[in-house]
Amino acid sequence: MKKQISAIKGTKDVLPREARKWQHVEAVTKRVLELYAYKEIRTPVFEATELFEKGTGQTTDIVIKEMYTFKDKAGRSLTLRPEYTPSVARSIIENRLYLQPDPLRFYYIGPMFRYDKPQKGRYRQFHQVDIEVFGEEDPALDAEIVEMANYLLRELKVSATENLVNSVGCKKCRPSYIKDLRSRAEEVKRDLCPDCKRKVDLNPLRIFDCKIETCREAAKNFPRITDYLCQECEDHFNRFCEYLAFYGIKYKVEPRLVRGIDYYTKTTFEVVSSKLGAQNALIGGGRYDDMMEDFGGPDLCAIGFAMGLERLISVVPFTEEKGEFLYLVHLGDESKRAGMKAVQFLRREGVECLIEYKERSIKSQMSRANKLGAAWVLIIGEEEVKEKKYKLKNMASGLQVEGTQGEILKIIRESS
Ligand code: AMP
Repeated sequence: MKKQISAIKGTKDVLPREARKWQHVEAVTKRVLELYAYKEIRTPVFEATELFEKGTGQTTDIVIKEMYTFKDKAGRSLTLRPEYTPSVARSIIENRLYLQPDPLRFYYIGPMFRYDKPQKGRYRQFHQVDIEVFGEEDPALDAEIVEMANYLLRELKVSATENLVNSVGCKKCRPSYIKDLRSRAEEVKRDLCPDCKRKVDLNPLRIFDCKIETCREAAKNFPRITDYLCQECEDHFNRFCEYLAFYGIKYKVEPRLVRGIDYYTKTTFEVVSSKLGAQNALIGGGRYDDMMEDFGGPDLCAIGFAMGLERLISVVPFTEEKGEFLYLVHLGDESKRAGMKAVQFLRREGVECLIEYKERSIKSQMSRANKLGAAWVLIIGEEEVKEKKYKLKNMASGLQVEGTQGEILKIIRESS
């Protein structure tokens, strides 16, 4: 027996039946995002490693532990993107999109890569829908984004979700918070896991990302960032919450919601689902008002979110519509050729057709059409070729008619 090659741990195949559901979710998502004036952008799957080191942040788990980084043949350090935001920021600066009059609202659907421990809802190649908006500082936009996320989930018939919101402050107010947080974390350092012990010095904010129970317990008594916000950040947060209420959106303030990425400023939010297990975040996002300048671009504030497609798809209800397709039954070479022409004609007219080329009896072809769930069967035998009139059978009603290609098309159209 020859050795089989398996898919890499943490990756999975989307097989045709499931792909229908993906297509449905992607189509609804695109429609909703475009209603809010977002335009699609596509950037490469790999980038210079320093883009993520600088953007996502040196102290994040993503950069420290989870990146797929490799050297190419020219010795450059490249990384498969672990998230999308730094790539979009880079692209906007590089292509000077901010000089154009178009609104800077972008969306993207595609794969991300993180060398994380695989489990339910957590993969090493996973897919995200990302949205990003640049240059709007009004918290009305932050609320509009949460409103859009909620509307999208409603359109996808996802229920049992909750909106968690927070503010992580800015360059001005965060340092005094970090100082107090660090000294509090110092006091309980011996109770923390080895990773979090390191984070006390490196970036104590990242202790909130830890999933280990003892660390979570310790973090419960840490100071809250919302008590340290400067006037500007506090106003922004209050107005964001007011606009959410204005939209009639329910939310919960979660002061420990710092999200595992270094660049966030002011607003952070998550949409969680009670139908998911431990990995319950469907959507996560926030503001990152400093990234564009840090990347050498213009001083443009920004906000975005990422939605995990694998997790979303696991909670989207979906019943596949039955495809209305026609199965071509043929017998012998002449009739096969006539069949090839007939399906070519029908496909050009928008009828989904399946012709198979294995030699089978009419009876076994009929039973195959039945098994595959064909709506129609078109039978072309020797006689039909001579007459140029084919037999069409409606599989649901059992009704059979005879006609030319054109007549057959008319019957199929009239019945749909
Ligand atoms: P993040 O980019 O970490 O803010 O995550 C945004 C969203 O992407 C999460 O809410 C999840 O839905 C999804 N996500 C993040 N990491 C993974 C992963 N390893 N596997 C599957 N989905 C993920």
